[in-house]
Amino acid sequence: MSADCLFCKIVAGDIPADVVHETETTLAFRDIGPKAPVHVLVIPKEHHADVAALALADAGLAGEVLAAAAAVARSEGLLTDGFRTIFNTGGYGGQEVFHVHAHVVGGAPLGPMLS
Ligand code: IMP
Repeated sequence: MSADCLFCKIVAGDIPADVVHETETTLAFRDIGPKAPVHVLVIPKEHHADVAALALADAGLAGEVLAAAAAVARSEGLLTDGFRTIFNTGGYGGQEVFHVHAHVVGGAPLGPMLS
């Protein structure tokens, strides 16, 4: 746990979240500012700053985050029409919360990736 981390506080239950999926090592909850009909954030409960740090430190846990993202896509009904999974990373990547999270976004056509 990182003391000033928003998502660590969600994991700890100190900040409420609309949780849609949980495993021993991961948590998935709805984004507070959804950009599409379905917009869920999937995180490891353990604090890692971004996806590069996570993958280098613990590739197994990175895989568990991806498996959780797939489980969310299935439970949210996104597997038939498709969806997008995004890891914003660092300043140029537009990352605002420095606890690694996969955005799982779908429920409507999303258009070209970088538009
Ligand atoms: P980033 O730009 O990839 O770091 O995305 C951070 C995301 O966290 C944004 O989409 C925010 O809307 C979302 N967010 C910020 N605070 C909360 C919260 O308390 N609950 C759920 N989502 C949040």
